[in-house]
Amino acid sequence: MTRCVALLSGGLDSMLAIRIMQEQGIEVEALNFKTMFTCCQDTSAQAARALGTNITVIGQEDDYLDLVRSPQYGYGKGANPCVDCRIYMFERAYKFMEAVDAQFIISGEVVGQRPMSQKRRDLNIISTNSGLEDLLLRPLSAKLLEPTKPEREGLVDREKLYDFEGRSRKGLIQLARDFGFTEEMIPTPSTGCALTEPEFGNKVHDLIQIQVDDTRWDYEALNVGRHFRFNEATKVILGRDQKENTQLEYMHRMEDATSTSFLEPISFKGPSALITGPSTDDALEYAAGLIYRYGRSLEGEGNIVQVVQDSGEFNLTAHPTERSANDKTIAGVNLRLAR
Ligand code: SF4
Repeated sequence: MTRCVALLSGGLDSMLAIRIMQEQGIEVEALNFKTMFTCCQDTSAQAARALGTNITVIGQEDDYLDLVRSPQYGYGKGANPCVDCRIYMFERAYKFMEAVDAQFIISGEVVGQRPMSQKRRDLNIISTNSGLEDLLLRPLSAKLLEPTKPEREGLVDREKLYDFEGRSRKGLIQLARDFGFTEEMIPTPSTGCALTEPEFGNKVHDLIQIQVDDTRWDYEALNVGRHFRFNEATKVILGRDQKENTQLEYMHRMEDATSTSFLEPISFKGPSALITGPSTDDALEYAAGLIYRYGRSLEGEGNIVQVVQDSGEFNLTAHPTERSANDKTIAGVNLRLAR
């Protein structure tokens, strides 16, 4: 029995690649790769169910962050190191292929579809540097590429593969319909990866460039809240809703947390905040100022923010003054430490 491993993201391209193999009677073991930056929606499991394949989900290891910090092949528009990331994924897929006794690997990559990782040159780099070489078959664009080993050895009929190229989805959608995919089975295009989003990418670049001793916790914290850089060593993270306020409190209690203070308003409505880096008085004042700036009350005395640190708890009391229209951060709030 011919068996291959398919990298299944849950997107249309990888679903089609699987179906092309199934049409040739080839058994497919799907593999989904999750990173701390990929979306939690279970689209890959739904896709596997719809296609009738087994699916195994593997996660990143800590060394994944090394390639995010300094990718050999650079970033896309955000902080997405797609070529390095694909190499990383395929190296793991190679081990999985051997473990499940499969003969080759397929992916839904289409020549020229994504500027960052699907140019011909990038596809070659990914095949070579992952160690897979010609064990990596791209069924959607195979006719534009050199025949791979499974094609040469007759495990796969090259005549029944495709020559898709470029960004248009029209032909791919038609192929999906020809294969009998229902409209619900055709997902809307999305990388599902926060690293590709410019705003999130800025937060990652800020961390990489300014905070040289960053940790896994710092990257996980990028998924939560608004981030304000106070100085090179210190950042304030502000919750955007109640869920994020709770998440920040939880994250502050984690063993590997780099946050030094958790702040929350206790006499008015407003966001919670974390300080990462040293909680100097200036940093506390800045963080509390942000809470007032984004909170619901700036009137009167008694605006109290509680500060929780490893060494104990204390309160900051704010005495608001005139806000400057241009001041988007401290909002003209004078603070008095009240411990
Ligand atoms: S979009 Fe994200 S998960 Fe996908 S290859 Fe690029 S960095 Fe990796």
